[in-house]
Amino acid sequence: MQHLVWFRNDLRVADNPALHAAISEGGQVKAVYIDCPGQWQEHGNSPIQRDFIEKNLQSLSRQLAGLGILLEVLECDCFDDVPRLLAEWTARQQIDALYANRDIGINERRRDKAVQQALPIPCRVYNGDCVMNHGSITTQNGDMYKVFTPYSKAWLSTLKAKGYRLLPAPDAAGKPCEPAAVTLRGEKKDSRDWPAGEQAAHQALARFCAESLLDYAEQRDFPAMEGTSRLSPYLALGVLSPNQCLAAIESELGFLPFGKGEQGFSWLNEIIWREFYRHLLVAFPGLSMNRAFKPETEALQWSRDQKAFTAWCEGQTGYPIVDAAMRCLRETGWMHNRLRMIVASFLTKDLHIHWQQGEAWFMANLIDGELAANNGGWQWAAGTGADAAPYFRVFNPVTQSERFDPNGDFIRRWVPELADVPAKHIHAPHDWLRQRRREQDYMPPMVDHGKARLHAIAMFDALKAEEES
Ligand code: FAD
Repeated sequence: MQHLVWFRNDLRVADNPALHAAISEGGQVKAVYIDCPGQWQEHGNSPIQRDFIEKNLQSLSRQLAGLGILLEVLECDCFDDVPRLLAEWTARQQIDALYANRDIGINERRRDKAVQQALPIPCRVYNGDCVMNHGSITTQNGDMYKVFTPYSKAWLSTLKAKGYRLLPAPDAAGKPCEPAAVTLRGEKKDSRDWPAGEQAAHQALARFCAESLLDYAEQRDFPAMEGTSRLSPYLALGVLSPNQCLAAIESELGFLPFGKGEQGFSWLNEIIWREFYRHLLVAFPGLSMNRAFKPETEALQWSRDQKAFTAWCEGQTGYPIVDAAMRCLRETGWMHNRLRMIVASFLTKDLHIHWQQGEAWFMANLIDGELAANNGGWQWAAGTGADAAPYFRVFNPVTQSERFDPNGDFIRRWVPELADVPAKHIHAPHDWLRQRRREQDYMPPMVDHGKARLHAIAMFDALKAEEES
């Protein structure tokens, strides 16, 4: 018997249901990863994530070889080519059954359906990306929740009742073998700031739990601090599983927190947000197809000012916290959550530019770019999504900066032209610079926030008026 494990967004050996099932069946196990450069381009993913995938595949390949499983990287241009490629490959290799963990985007789900139809062998699909199975957290009518709070309550009571399942380390499937070389073609950007592989991910998780979990609620909003886990690149590729995060919380605290105010709960809550957006993506396929969660918001009149969009992308808006965040993203491929909210609000509510442009720019630059969380975050900020902030609540980039970067440490790191501006003035430095005849050091604010805010509110009011007429 020969089983095939098809790795996708689950680049790990531990707590991998598909791998676990294939090994448990007995017989020989082989593994593939299918790279689709054309699809990669169509999805607009980032060169830094491509590099990170390559490095994680190299690590996975070594680990699997230790278990007697050879990982081969196959290539075809796009998802449409995958069924034929797999049908031919599995026939040649005399594979009896295919094992994979669920992928959630609409193109991925269509690809998987086509593979199941094209292959004459059983294709077994598992839940490997969420603690709770897709479709298992529903209202009494069996529908997916549309807002986070009731979803999280139902999620927590299911966890309380049923617990979570962490798989044991897999047995070897055979004698250790020589790992195959892994290279992905195409543009890559060095991801070395994020050490690749499961071991590195687990070290980062253990360090976070030991050093920062208890302070997370107080520190998580301050981008100059190391207050969050920075595990998103690993979770996005499945190098780490959410079950493993729960197990780490439990091992650190000796219990799982089930409610607000309990130690460690705020971090667990972020894992629930992650699941909320993933479950939404599966329940509402339109989210994978550029549709707004609230259909009526598709009539919003967004600005098409390309120059303004470029200024935002390049961190040249004249709002220091926005510019620092955007420059940090370009340079490192990562951005703190508070800053993601600030820059997303700025693009959509101050520049009135379509959230889809911001979503695409994030995807093209983030190392942790991930459709469900990215789309969820953008639609939340734009006021078009599930659980959106009320449209009249618009982030003020100056007061946000004063609150969450009070000493200006983060700004100074990324906007060096403001390095000597005192903390009191750094959030809106123009008067201070003018008094010293240094206006040329830093660009003026590209919009007046007060006026831009009113314009954003008017855009939404117009929508409401149209609906009511
Ligand atoms: P922590 O605070 O340590 O949280 C732990 C984990 O929980 C994260 O690694 C992540 O997997 C998950 N998580 C945390 N916050 C959220 C959230 N709001 N939504 C969903 N999952 C969450 N996250 C991505 O992984 N990929 C994206 O492409 C992405 N795009 C975003 C775009 C916007 C506009 C916004 C507002 C948020 C986006 N997020 C995205 C969510 C969040 O900003 C990141 O997950 C977080 O900043 C990662 O840092 P961390 O690992 O230190 O998180």
